Amino acid sequence: MEHRTPRPLAIKELAVKANEIRKDVLEVAVRNGAGHIAPSLSCVDILTVLYYRIMKRSQDPQWEHRDRLVFSKAHGCYALYAILADIGYLERAAWENFYRDSFLAGCVERSVTHGLEAGCGSLGHGLPQAVGLAYGAKLQGLQWRVYCVLGDGELQEGSNWEALQFAVKHELSNLTVIVDANRLQAMDFLENILTVKGRKDDIQRKMKAFGCEVKSCDGHSLKAMNGILRSWLGRRETMHVPQVLAARTIKGYGMKCMENVPKFHFRLPTEGEMKEGNRYEQA
Ligand SMILES: [Mg+2]
Repeated sequence: MEHRTPRPLAIKELAVKANEIRKDVLEVAVRNGAGHIAPSLSCVDILTVLYYRIMKRSQDPQWEHRDRLVFSKAHGCYALYAILADIGYLERAAWENFYRDSFLAGCVERSVTHGLEAGCGSLGHGLPQAVGLAYGAKLQGLQWRVYCVLGDGELQEGSNWEALQFAVKHELSNLTVIVDANRLQAMDFLENILTVKGRKDDIQRKMKAFGCEVKSCDGHSLKAMNGILRSWLGRRETMHVPQVLAARTIKGYGMKCMENVPKFHFRLPTEGEMKEGNRYEQA
């Protein structure tokens, strides 16, 4: 098969695409009764930048030179599925029947033929897998990169910090971590659980202390995320550490009834709540 890298979308086109994905996620999830909508909406913009602008890919999900994406916060996988269906890695019917009569599960099961690089769901297991992939690529002198999308709540899992120590020690500059920093985990705010109250740069402090290159930006600004990720790609020959982008997001982004509302971690909106409106049709 001849491999053609798709044209990266311009920022304006990315914004249109992200709104299409939000709409698709909501329609399919509500129709199928799948409740993890808010954690999926929080990372639509992150995944849109990665798939349509940053990551190296072709029409073949198994192309050996592709960049790999490990989606660790796998309960929020609806956005990933919608994108994989949009780029042709998943059959549209598999996505539309997700949660019902489809092989697609509520969390990600590995299926490289469909662009699902790693099985995740039990939290804290995506980054160790991403580190393993990045280490393997480095040992073999391969040029592809690994992107890992983490939830901020799952950073409480100790496995992440073991993986980061390894990544820094082995200078895995081919690894980029994007934290979907929506300040919520399941049904409560992080600062009510293990994050120090009022500390807004908690992730950055910890990641810097471990030796990573760290940046933070609005996780719904396609332009800002693209700028940071592009600048890291531009420095890939001279950088010797993994990079972490703390993307400040809003859980439930796009649906007014859901934004920053903890009870929407796993809950379908009622008809009345749907009528409160959304961002994607006004945009
Ligand atoms: Mg979170």
